Formats: sequence, structure tokens, C-alpha cells
Amino acid sequence: MSLLVKNALLITMDAGRRVRRGDILVDRGRIHRVGTIGRNDMLLGSRLSVLDGTGLWCLPGLVQAHVHLCQTLFRNAAEDLELLDWLRRRIWPLEAALDEESMEAAARLGIAELLLGGTTCVLDMGSVRHTDVLFEAARATGIRYIGGKALMDDPACPPSLRERAEDALRDTDRLAAAWEGKEDGRLRYAHAPRFALSCTDGLLRAVGERVAAGARLHTHASENRAECEEVRRTRGLGNVAYLKRAGLCSARSVFAHCVWPEEGEAEILAETGTAVAHCPSSNLKLASGIAPIPDYVARGIRVGLGADGAPCNNTLDVFQEMRLASLLPRPRFGPAALPADRVLELATIGGAAALGLQDEIGSLEEGKRADLILVDPRGLHAQPPSDIAATLVHCLRADDVRHVVVDGRVLVRDRKLEELDLARIRDRAGAQWPRLRSRAGL
Ligand SMILES: [Zn+2]
Repeated sequence: MSLLVKNALLITMDAGRRVRRGDILVDRGRIHRVGTIGRNDMLLGSRLSVLDGTGLWCLPGLVQAHVHLCQTLFRNAAEDLELLDWLRRRIWPLEAALDEESMEAAARLGIAELLLGGTTCVLDMGSVRHTDVLFEAARATGIRYIGGKALMDDPACPPSLRERAEDALRDTDRLAAAWEGKEDGRLRYAHAPRFALSCTDGLLRAVGERVAAGARLHTHASENRAECEEVRRTRGLGNVAYLKRAGLCSARSVFAHCVWPEEGEAEILAETGTAVAHCPSSNLKLASGIAPIPDYVARGIRVGLGADGAPCNNTLDVFQEMRLASLLPRPRFGPAALPADRVLELATIGGAAALGLQDEIGSLEEGKRADLILVDPRGLHAQPPSDIAATLVHCLRADDVRHVVVDGRVLVRDRKLEELDLARIRDRAGAQWPRLRSRAGL
């Protein structure tokens, strides 16, 4: 089946950042033609599905470089805490209580919210258990998904989540072999030591060996001052420097947050090609701080955006993250520190680059995967029509997304999930949450 997006304003995010009115022809999951497409350009013999883009803006599917689908059921259940208390008192007991059914309910709820809001690709950190359930949900729902099992083997971790390093690594290797590259590359594996304090040095170094051999890496770093002080006290180095010594900094690595780099650590990120996932709502919610993103961008560090998890946000709406990413640095770096056009890059081609997928997604260009969205800019909150980037970043919201396509497959049409049953997703989440909470003893 081929797909034709007809008569939209195409915000291509290509190298020239071209904006033009036109059509997009999709064939076998990839963008086949961008331009004005007439009858003669149609692929003979193939069935054609059409999305009418009249009045709409078409842009690349939005990318989130840091989320936790496993936490979606914990929404609004871990309010008003700083990171380490938030983890120890709420998130870890709840993650330990997840079973296959509640994990699946969490994943489907999160993915449905993401797709309806225009996010087509995520880098996700799973929990310690049930990682296959997350990949299975991503496979079935159609979202582009890079994920991996969270690694926690430090004696300071709660026994309910702590694993022996050799067991954690064996499971990681099994999962990576099972899921990397599946669904024609739509699913990929990222090794995910949770953060420096959750892992022994031996485990981190073993993951570092896998990174050196080409594996992808996803972790948290320097999110909170107390976390950074504990890393320095117990590991003897700054957080980023410590992760570098373990071999975790690379051009295939994504560090979430990086709010509190020590002297010289921004240089480490830049020199090693390590990407940063910026989560502005989460950084405010957990009182973590203001990440020096303008400084990272100026150094050429790849930066993507992420909503992080539902319990530290509390939605997965990437439009809110775009707006906050533009606003948050202003008191410290000035009003033009991260203007709307730069933020739009972080959510599209920049986010794709942060995940190493810039040749596959992130812009509307021939040959790339057909991950694209159509948004409706005609709401009163975006009138009168004016600056495109400012409209997208500061005015539009998840509800303004009309159609969503991943790999050429229409997943959202006219604001409705094409293949998923929204009522069932809502009911299952509502049924699983009280049971999960009581198993967690909260
Ligand atoms: Zn996180």
C-alpha cells in the first residue's frame, strides 16, 4: 500500500530548512517523492491511501530522546519530591510491583498518548523486568522504539529490583539479540544502566565493553545535585567523568538530563560525541535545576528532548517540552538562548541525530523513513497565522495533531488511533493501577 499526503505546507527540516506547499508520496514505508505529485507519478498497480493536507502543516514525526513507558501508570502518584526520594519512596516500589499485565497496560497507555500527540519515535528506559512486554507493545502499536532493560546491581538498590551483574548482563544480551533491528529496523536495543549510583563499577565496565563493540547506550547523568555529590563521594569522580572512565561515553550514547556538569564535563560530552536528552518539565517538577542546553548546543553536542516519565511531568506531550525547552534557559542565558526554530530542530532532525537516526528519520526527504505528522494550525490559540516555528513551539499542543504516520503506516487519522482501541487502553490502565499500587504497599 502506498500513501499520498496531498496539498500540505511541508516543513521539511532538511538541510536548507525548506518550507513549501506540496505533496509527499510514500512507498513501502519510505518517502518516495516530495513535491507536486500528479497522476503520472503514482506507482502503477499499488493501492493508494490519501491524507488530505489542505490547511494543515506536515512535518517530520517528533522524536523524544528520553521516556519511561513502564511508569505511565504512576502518573500523579509521586508528587512534590526530589529525585532520590522520588525514586526510593515511590518509583522503585512501584516498578518492583509491575507484572506483565500492568507493564503492558502502562506501555499501551504511554504509546497511545505519544502517538496521538505526534511523537513517532522514542528512546525508552525500561524497568528491570518485563522488557519483552515493552518491545512487544512497540511492535504491535507501530511506534518507532529504541529501548532496553534498566540495569540495577549496586548493593544500595532495593532488593526488590537488584540483580546480580551476571544475570543482568545475560538478560541484556538475550534482549538485544532478540529485538535489535526487528520490524525492518523500527525496533532497536539500547543498553540501559539506570544511573551511576544504581550500578557497580564492574557492571558499568562490562556495558562499556559492549559500547566499545558498537552497542547503543542510554543512561541518566547529573540530574540532581545530591546525586552528583553522592557519585563524587562514593566513586571519587564527577558523574560524567566517572561514566567516561567506565567506557560509557560514545557517539552511540545518550545521557538524560546533564543538569549539573562539573568543570570539564561538557568538554567530555563534546569530545566523545555523547548526546544529551533534555527533559525540561521533569527538571522543573523534581526541582532538579536548569540544564545548560544553550552551552551544549553551542559546543555541537547533540541534544534531543524528552518528557521523561508520566510521574515526573505529568504528561508525555512533546509540545509542552518544546515550549519549556525554549523558556527554561532564558532567566540564566537570556531571551534568545534557545529560540523556537532551534527548539523545533531538537524535536525533529536534532533528536534523530541524538539517537543516531539522522539518516533514517527527522526530516521530510526522499529516501527517508516515512515518519511524519500533520498538525492543524487553525485553532484560535494560534491565530492569526504567522511565524511557523513560534506557532509550533509556543502555540500548538498535542490536541492539534491530526494525522500520524510511522514507516508509511497511518497510526492516527483525524485525531483517532487507527489500530488501537482507546477505551480498552483507558479501562485496562484504570483497572491495573489500584492493584499495582496495593502490591507496592503505597
Ligand atoms: Zn528518566
